[in-house]
Amino acid sequence: MLLANLREQVLEANLDLVRRGLVLSTFGNASGVAREEGLIVIKPSGVPYDEMKPQDLVVTDMHGKVVEGTLRPSSDLPTHAALYRAFSAIGGIAHTHSEYATAWAQARKSIPCFGTTHADYFHGPIPLTKVMTDSEITGEYEANTGVAIIRAFKKIDPMAVPAVLVANHGPFAWGADAKKAAENAWMLEAAARIAWFTVGINAKAAPVGKTLHDKHFLRKHGKKAYYGQAAGKK
Ligand SMILES: [Zn+2]
Repeated sequence: MLLANLREQVLEANLDLVRRGLVLSTFGNASGVAREEGLIVIKPSGVPYDEMKPQDLVVTDMHGKVVEGTLRPSSDLPTHAALYRAFSAIGGIAHTHSEYATAWAQARKSIPCFGTTHADYFHGPIPLTKVMTDSEITGEYEANTGVAIIRAFKKIDPMAVPAVLVANHGPFAWGADAKKAAENAWMLEAAARIAWFTVGINAKAAPVGKTLHDKHFLRKHGKKAYYGQAAGKK
């Protein structure tokens, strides 16, 4: 069986999404990529989470062609594959319809960074894609969802803002690996929920200032990070 460790990791990431209450019905999927091998491991379509085993996951190439597995891959695979091809630093992707993030996506509003909970994980507002055109929807819909996301990141580093809202659909999050992608999906939902409360209390609430935003993101990420324990120390 190919990529046994990655299969385990992607299975755990899918279960993380469920355990954290981010998956409504079966609207959720996580994947991981093995860059050297050029292979993607993704959740199968329509298998109940409590019965899912590592061997049920589907291995595909970078264009979504099944390489190993008897089950059909998640229907969102072409979106995942497009993101892996475009964003070379990412190692995992998580898609959910978590309610608060989805509400912002349906309202067609990007999520401003109102405070440090958001700033710790996302170095900027959570961008919103353009509304997809009819021909994008009737054509290769899932692949075009990837195109819409990539377009929204023309001027944004996907590792600095590892999440997006697809207009009228819901969030995608990613990270260095599948576990991190699931964590970012969880933090995105928290940021979306708290932002909603914030504008409920004060509709004119201002986004956090640049200095505080930079401070919180950069102390956890990048070359000068000092928050938590150094890699290998724990
Ligand atoms: Zn979806």
